[in-house]
Amino acid sequence: MAKKETLKNKSIAVIGAGWAGCAAACELAQQGATVTLLESSRHLGGRARGVTVHGHELDNGQHILLGAYTQSLRLMHLVGVDTETALLNLPLQMVYPALEDGMSFIAPRLPAPLHLLLALVKSSGLSFSDKMALARFSSTARWMGWRLNEDCSVIELLERFDQTPRLCRLMWIPLCIAALNTPPERASAQVFLNVLRDSLGARRAASDMLIPRLDLSNIFPEKAAEFVRAHGGQVLPAHPVTGLQQNENGKWQMELKQAEAANVAIYDAVILACDFANADRLLSTLPAKDQAAPLPTLSHFNYEPITTCYLQYAPSVRLLRPMLALLDDVAQKKWGQYVFDRGQLQPDQAGLLAVVVSVSQTATEIDRHELAMDIAAQLAQSLGMPELAQPIWHQCISEKRATFSCTPGLRRPDNCTNYPGLYLAGDYTDGDYPATLEGAVRSGIAASQTILKDLKAAKN
Ligand SMILES: Cc1cc2nc3c(=O)[nH]c(=O)nc-3n(C[C@H](O)[C@H](O)[C@H](O)COP(=O)(O)OP(=O)(O)OC[C@H]3O[C@@H](n4cnc5c(N)ncnc54)[C@H](O)[C@@H]3O)c2cc1C
Repeated sequence: MAKKETLKNKSIAVIGAGWAGCAAACELAQQGATVTLLESSRHLGGRARGVTVHGHELDNGQHILLGAYTQSLRLMHLVGVDTETALLNLPLQMVYPALEDGMSFIAPRLPAPLHLLLALVKSSGLSFSDKMALARFSSTARWMGWRLNEDCSVIELLERFDQTPRLCRLMWIPLCIAALNTPPERASAQVFLNVLRDSLGARRAASDMLIPRLDLSNIFPEKAAEFVRAHGGQVLPAHPVTGLQQNENGKWQMELKQAEAANVAIYDAVILACDFANADRLLSTLPAKDQAAPLPTLSHFNYEPITTCYLQYAPSVRLLRPMLALLDDVAQKKWGQYVFDRGQLQPDQAGLLAVVVSVSQTATEIDRHELAMDIAAQLAQSLGMPELAQPIWHQCISEKRATFSCTPGLRRPDNCTNYPGLYLAGDYTDGDYPATLEGAVRSGIAASQTILKDLKAAKN
């Protein structure tokens, strides 16, 4: 109740309706603020949004959530999403097709750490020394409290922890790429450990893998928008913000492409929930205020790409599991790293497979048909299903700027700026997580909590 009173009569703008902006908007609306959520695109969700492909409601990229995504799950509940039905819950697993020289590791639904112990004992495709290396990694990381004195690359960490080449190839490298979307040679070992701490190192449910059955816009951003409107706020898609101004009373105004009411509206606070490139651009429209405490510079971030290839086959095509790992080998044009059987998520998507190719710049550049046919050939061979070589249709979606490159010791800005009333939110801000839905959501929540704290402090 006290919280509600604090933000009541406060007008707050959130720029960007990705998962960070939507999370911030929901938190603020729940605390009684009047929220205006401005989004440049006609669609909500940013880098995690629904798209229509050949008449199917799919995503701009196949996503996977973890049970450890506690804040994303909490906000989904808050806005009325039934996560039991919206997400397929799988136990932690890394399973390759039987024909590949891979491994099978599936954690049974037992209390932690029994689930990992039993998965290790029962796993196939790993030698005794691979299993011992895995156990050693887990116990050493726990003993270190999942903290490194100094950050290094994931490859260096794996060497330090004496991990076998086979375990690295089959488990650690695919996990690093899936979690950080950064090649292990360049990926931050500390952020990798953070993710492992909150999933493998926590209660069993935290390691569950959650695959959206609905399109991503519908499992949060669209529902968040309804929540904001129901709490007296407004959501304005197709409203790109081009500049920011702070008046002499410390209140904020937007510059928009269209001359509209939002142009003259005055806000008590603004959350910049754009990706870092657009946040950087908007920050640069502000006059330099205090050279001793400059605005955060965001130009040192680099991008990593992700490509998702959707391939439609006859409805009778079904994989043994909803999700399988694949042995990639770019030299042999085996691009795919994971394959998802969408028919096991949504009955009306029977025969539709989604193959994920992370961190490959080349995959974003080569001809779309050629890439899809390479992937189809890889599936046919790896799964021993020759019919997969000829999809009925295919569509590859490359997000060249899918995530920031999560490198060792990367400087990530705080939610605060040196302008009172101006805050940052987004997966790139300071936090434990790499560029993920949970990282974005936590950042949005942190920004809204900082506003609350600052407004309380200003009152006293
Ligand atoms: C293909 C792909 C696969 C991924 N897979 C996973 C996964 O499996 N699991 C996982 O957890 N994460 C995954 N991620 C990462 C995750 O999607 C992102 O970390 C997260 O969506 C980032 O959210 P955000 O709100 O920080 O940023 P964004 O989604 O970039 O949101 C920023 C928003 O601001 C808007 N905007 C920008 N400039 C302006 C302006 N001037 N005015 C108004 N609006 C503006 C943009 O249009 C955008 O909607 C994946 C990402 C991609 C692209």
